[in-house]
Amino acid sequence: MRSLRLKLIVGFLLVLTAVILSFDGFIFVAKGNALLDILDSRLFAESQSLARRLEITNGKPAFDLVDDNGLKPAISSFIRIVDENGLIVHQSPNSPEIPWPAFPKNAAVPHQATARLDRTQSAQSDHQRKVASPASPVWKTVRSSRSKIWRTVTWVDHLEIDAVSGEKNAVLPETTTAVAIQCAESLAETKEELRELASLLAVLSLAAFLIAGGGSFLLAGWALRPIRRINKALAGVSETRLDRRIDPKGFDRELHPLIEQLNAALDRLEKGFQRERQFTADASHELRTPLAAILNTIEVLLRRPRRDQELIEAHHDNLRTARSMQAIIEGLLLLARMDAGKAHPAKEEIPLLPLVTDIYAAIGPEAEAGTVRLEQAIEPELRVLADPSQLRLALSNLVDNAVRYNRPNGSVTIKARTEGGGTTIEVGDTGIGIPAEHLPRIFERFYRVDPSRTEATGGSGLGLSIVRKIVEAHNGRVTAASGPEGSVVTVFLPDA
Ligand code: ADP
Repeated sequence: MRSLRLKLIVGFLLVLTAVILSFDGFIFVAKGNALLDILDSRLFAESQSLARRLEITNGKPAFDLVDDNGLKPAISSFIRIVDENGLIVHQSPNSPEIPWPAFPKNAAVPHQATARLDRTQSAQSDHQRKVASPASPVWKTVRSSRSKIWRTVTWVDHLEIDAVSGEKNAVLPETTTAVAIQCAESLAETKEELRELASLLAVLSLAAFLIAGGGSFLLAGWALRPIRRINKALAGVSETRLDRRIDPKGFDRELHPLIEQLNAALDRLEKGFQRERQFTADASHELRTPLAAILNTIEVLLRRPRRDQELIEAHHDNLRTARSMQAIIEGLLLLARMDAGKAHPAKEEIPLLPLVTDIYAAIGPEAEAGTVRLEQAIEPELRVLADPSQLRLALSNLVDNAVRYNRPNGSVTIKARTEGGGTTIEVGDTGIGIPAEHLPRIFERFYRVDPSRTEATGGSGLGLSIVRKIVEAHNGRVTAASGPEGSVVTVFLPDA
C-alpha cells in the first residue's frame, strides 16, 4: 500500500469497523439481556400468579383463572407442577412438547411453609391457595426436539400437610414433601425481536460505514492538501531559481518544522551552488592568468628572431608559470578527489619528528635563500595517527606558507604535544601575520589576504584549503591565530 491517502482511509475504516462492531455487539447483548430479564420476571410473576390460582378440588388440581373482578388475566406461559419424585401434579392442558428441567436437586426450600396443597379428597370448599414467596427461582433456556426454544422458570415450594392428611390422598402420595412449580414460555418472539434489532443495526452500521468511508476519502484529501502545496512550491525551485522559499504562513502549525527544514535545505543548496559557481569562476581565473602570460611570452618571442639568451630566459619564465599552473591543477584534482570521498586517509601511527625533519630538508634551501630558520620542539618518541602522505602534504603546505610569508631573519617553529585524546601540532612563524578580519576565510579555496602579495610569493591559493580538507578527513580540526609577531596554525588530530 503505497498511497498515504489509502493508508489513512483504510486505517480510519478499520478503527471505525472495530468501534461499530463493538457498539453493535454491546447493543445486541444488552438488548438481549434486557428482553430476557423482562421475560424472566414476567414468567416468574405468571408462575406465581398461576400457582396462587391453583385449586385442588376433590383431589383434582385446576386453575381458577378468573380474578376477583371476573377478568381472565392474559397468560402466555405454560405451567407444570411436579413433585420431587417426578410425579406430575399438574400440567397446563394442550401444552406443547417442552423439555422441562428436572426437579431441582438440593433446591432451597423456604423455611416457613408457605405453600399449602390440599392432600385430601374431601376438601371440597377448602380452596387452598399458594401464597408463597418462593425461594431461589431457577431460569433455564431449553430447546425442544423441533428446535423450538423455551425459557423456563422453576421454583420449589414446601407443602404443608393439611390437618386431614390422615385420609387417603388422591393427588399426592404421602412421600411428597415439596413440589416444583415450573413455567415455560417460547423464546420465538424474543428471537424475532432480536433478529429485527440485528437487521436494523446492520443497516445503520453499513450506512455509517459508507458515510464515514466517503467522509474519510474527502478528509484524507483535505489533510494531504498542504503536501500538494509544498510540492507545487518546490516545483518552482530549479538550478537557476534556488532563491525560492516556502512561506510557512498559511500552513498548519504541525507542518512548520518540515517547511523550516526544507527552507534550510534550500539555503544550504543555494550556498553550495554559489560556492560551486564561485569556485569554477575562481579556478578559471587562476588558470587563465598564467596561461595568458605564457601565450603572451610566446607571441612576443615569435615576432622576430631571438638570441639564445633571450630564448632561455623566456623558457624559464614559461616554465615557472607552467609550474604554478601545474600546482593549481594538482591542488584542484586532490580537492576534487577528497570531495568525492576517494582519498580516504589510510591511518597509521607514524613518528612525527622524522616526518618534520624530512619536510624541513625539502624546504630548507628555499628557507635559507630567504634566511628563515627552521626549528622544532618535538619529542622523538611522539607518534601521531594519520595517513603519512596526507599529513606530509598538510604540514608541507603550512611550513611553505610560514616560510613564504615570513620576514628576513625570521623563523618557523613546529611544536607538538599529546593532549585531549589526540596530538596538537602548531606551526608558528615570525612573519607578516594575517589581519584578524581575514582569519575566518583563509581556509577557503583561492582565498588570499592580498592577491598582489601572492604574485610575489607564488602561492596557488589552495594550500590552506587542502590542509583543512586533510585534517577534516582525519576527524580533526585546524585553526589559525595571528598577531604582530607572526601567525600560528594549530592542527589537532584525534587518536581514534
Ligand atoms: P597561498 O597559496 O596563497 O599561500 P593558502 O591557502 O596557503 O594560499 O593561504 C591563503 C592565504 O592566507 C594566503 O594567500 C596568505 O595571504 C594567507 N596566509 C597563509 N598562511 C600565512 C602565514 N603563515 N602568514 C601570513 N599569511 C598567511
